This record gives sequence, structure tokens and C-alpha cells, in this order.
Amino acid sequence: MPQKIFVAGHRGMVGSAILRRFAHRDDLQVVTRTRTELDLCNQAAVNKFFESERPDTVIFAAAKVGGIHVNATYPADFAYDNTMMAANAIHAAFQTGVSRFLFLGSTCIYPRMAPQPIQEDALLTSPLEETNEGYALAKIMGLKLCQYYRQQHGALFHSAMPTNLYGPGDNYHPDNSHVIPGLIRRFDDAAKENANSVTVWGSGKPRREFLHVDDLAAAVEHLLQLENPPDWVNVGTGVDLTIADLARKIADATGFEGQIVQDASKPDGTPVKCTDISRIRSTGWQPTIRLDDGLTQTVADYHHRIQSGEV
Ligand code: GDP
Repeated sequence: MPQKIFVAGHRGMVGSAILRRFAHRDDLQVVTRTRTELDLCNQAAVNKFFESERPDTVIFAAAKVGGIHVNATYPADFAYDNTMMAANAIHAAFQTGVSRFLFLGSTCIYPRMAPQPIQEDALLTSPLEETNEGYALAKIMGLKLCQYYRQQHGALFHSAMPTNLYGPGDNYHPDNSHVIPGLIRRFDDAAKENANSVTVWGSGKPRREFLHVDDLAAAVEHLLQLENPPDWVNVGTGVDLTIADLARKIADATGFEGQIVQDASKPDGTPVKCTDISRIRSTGWQPTIRLDDGLTQTVADYHHRIQSGEV
């Protein structure tokens, strides 16, 4: 019998990359539910789903996500939704005998001033970045629940913490998105309109690391094969760049030739965020998609989605 695997959040950028990755796996029966079919914030509905569907494995890629602006504006929504979804799914999975649960979070769980590159044991050593504290606390709770259920009950529940992600299927909303899709949209529009300048939020000095979502999907498949996976592990590239350098690359990828202006009235967020990926490397996984190639492919995805009317 194929292994039954529930991919929570299959319509998101991460969940859809995982589904693409599993498309060739006929040893897996992938189960999905849309948000209308199953509200993960509703404990009774989640319990009912797990009792009737009884998946063997869960990959938890469901989350309320967004960029620095929405995270800072709606902290209650980000904290509540992400806490409830994680707690409901982890508890129901445990109660119905799910044999493996892989919880996905984000490297924003680490302290704002964590020593760089960030190692897993930096968790909870000092205060979080304020602009996404609500989201980060919810993801820390999910990670800790997995760790506690494993410790207390022996359930194989574990977590992966990816760095800033990008790739096909992203949210290109001008204000709510993360930096890469936000800038792709702004630069691409400006290139088409032959505009003289494009505005980039903040000072341009923050450093970020970016992982292509297909590399994350490969890491997820890899982690599921480990017999004794770490409780939580960073997934990234170990390479970062400034937002100003990123903006230059996106200008090139979209063919924008005008001026780039920084808007210092917008927040910078964490000054530096680059992960130490030695733990996952030591288990045999490494990233394969170069940022330049990934950006070119993501710009093509953006064009495709404009043409199909999705954006
Ligand atoms: P963060 O890693 O949680 O801060 O996530 P973001 O992807 O939202 O932002 C990363 C950095 O890019 C921050 O320093 C932002 O100020 C900067 N940035 C520059 N322009 C933009 C933009 O148009 N949208 C977003 N979301 N961030 C931008």
C-alpha cells in the first residue's frame, strides 16, 4: 500500500513545490485539502479530518505568511492563525497515530542579533526581531510542540526552518509580499513603462539569504528519509547579499535600466540573516539552484502568471 501523506498548505508556494517534487513518487498517496474544505484553525474540523483520513505522514507547509509590512501591521493575525494551525494539526496527528510529522517554519524564529551565520542552538537565546515577532513565536511553538511530543511520547515529529524563500507560485502583491516577488513586480512594471526610477524599501543595507523553493522541496524529501532526523534543522544556502545588491540583480533580470532609490522611511527589519547549514549538509543535502538562475526563472513565472491572469 502506498504511504498516505498529508501535505497541508498545498496551494502555497512551498506546498505546491512539494507536490511537484512528489509527482513522480508512485509509492506515495498525497492527500490535500483546500482552506475552504478544511479550516486548520478549527480544532474540531482538524480532529475530524485526521480521524477519517488517517495519514501516515504529515508535511506541514500551511501558514499565514507575508512580508515585513503585513507582519508588522497584523501581528495578532499572524500569531493567532499560525499558533492554532500548528497546535491543532500536531495534536490531532499525535492522537490519530501519525507516524511522522515534518513541521515547516522559518529562520525568523532566531533572535534578531543571533551570531552569524545562525546555528540551530541560537534559538531562544535573546529577543526576536519586532517586525515579525508574532509569526516567529507561533513557529517556535510549532517547533517546540514537535520536540515535546517526540520527547514525551516518542513520536517522530520534527521541524525544518527554511531561510527566506522565493520561486514559482509566490505572492506578487505590491505591499504584502516578500522582497523578491515585491521587487520583481515593481521592477518589471517600471521596465515596461520605461520609468526613470524604482523605489526599494529601507536602507538597502540589510543582508538576506534566499533559497529557491524547489531546493526546499528536495530538502523536505531528504529529511523524510532520515531515520533519526534532528529535532529542527536550518535549510538555506549559507550565502547572503545586501538588499541593494539583490535589487540590482532583479533590475538586470527584468531589464530595468533606470535609477534605484531607497526609501529609508520603510523598515529594514533584521540587519543580517544568514543561516549556518552545516547540520543539514552533514545529513547529505545541499542547495543546487544559484540565485541568478532562480531569479531568471522566477521572473519568467511572473510573466506567465500575468499572461494567465493569475496576477
Ligand atoms: P524579512 O526577511 O522578514 O525582513 O522579509 P521581507 O522579504 O519582507 O524583507 C526583506 C528586506 O527587504 C527588508 O529589509 C525590507 O525592508 C527589504 N525590502 C525592500 N524592498 C521591499 C519590498 O518591496 N517588499 C518587501 N517585503 N521588502 C522589501
